[in-house]
Amino acid sequence: MSHYNARVIQRIEVSPALLVFRIAPDGWELPGFTPGQFAVLTLPGSAPRCAMCEPEDEAAPAEKLIKRAYSISSSSRVREFLEFYIALAPSGALTPRLFALKVGDGVWLGQKFSGLFTLRDVPSGRHVVLISTGTGLAPYVSMLRDELQCGGPRRFAVIHGARHSWELGYRSELMMLQSMCANMTYIPIISRPGAEPVPWSGRVGRIQDIWASRPLLQPWGFDPSPDDSHVFVCGQPGMVEEMTAVLQGEGFGEDAPGRHGEIHIERYW
Ligand SMILES: Cc1cc2nc3c(=O)[nH]c(=O)nc-3n(C[C@H](O)[C@H](O)[C@H](O)COP(=O)(O)OP(=O)(O)OC[C@H]3O[C@@H](n4cnc5c(N)ncnc54)[C@H](O)[C@@H]3O)c2cc1C
Repeated sequence: MSHYNARVIQRIEVSPALLVFRIAPDGWELPGFTPGQFAVLTLPGSAPRCAMCEPEDEAAPAEKLIKRAYSISSSSRVREFLEFYIALAPSGALTPRLFALKVGDGVWLGQKFSGLFTLRDVPSGRHVVLISTGTGLAPYVSMLRDELQCGGPRRFAVIHGARHSWELGYRSELMMLQSMCANMTYIPIISRPGAEPVPWSGRVGRIQDIWASRPLLQPWGFDPSPDDSHVFVCGQPGMVEEMTAVLQGEGFGEDAPGRHGEIHIERYW
């Protein structure tokens, strides 16, 4: 449809319910953004839902505009498109319509990018721990693509939880960064090892419990503390709340308007 202002130029299936979308502006230039920020995608109620999706909780009227925020996963240096990592909420309003989009289909892409979940206020001498479940990984991919200086003094660690290994999006890229960069640590965690087609040799459980086992002590040589590190947390609400409490118990303070802290939180829902 010609009235949309952007088009899907690539869709990469991580799993049937997880897609990486690349969306390019149609006839306008992408403004700049800071890694960690989000954009808004919009489709009308008249847009079809994907075949595998459930009926929505409450049917959206055809003319209704359904808008949702999505963290940008691409580097800010890429000017041709924005990349997003999106999970299907099967009975949701927007994602079943996004999952029905094919390459070339139109979508509205908000032209203003927002959010404070960025590395901007992290002093350059501090290390960075990026904790997520599911698509909460998206903002970190953008941060790493822009900010990781391989071999530099700032350490980055990505701790990413998913139910199954095949839901660990961006795993190859993160594994490659880890193998190339001594200052990058990647810790993938799955919670349902019984369903793996071949045995999983990595970590199993909940992020909160893995954190208690001090997973960075061996790769970093020390445990991150409020004096040397900032911790970002994004993903499933239970994990966010529990990790925040655990970190506060270790002396980290939550970053909030008017109060600088070492815990940075993005809440998706
Ligand atoms: C700042 C911000 C950034 C966001 N970035 C992303 C992103 O990068 N990728 C992404 O997939 N979502 C992201 N979200 C969530 C997104 O905005 C939508 O809420 C989500 O896609 C569901 O939309 P929906 O209309 O299909 O479902 P709705 O009809 O709005 O139903 C919402 C329900 O879907 C579930 N849900 C919402 N988000 C997720 C999720 N990510 N994974 C699993 N279940 C979910 C929850 O149960 C929630 O109650 C972000 C939200 C915010 C506020």
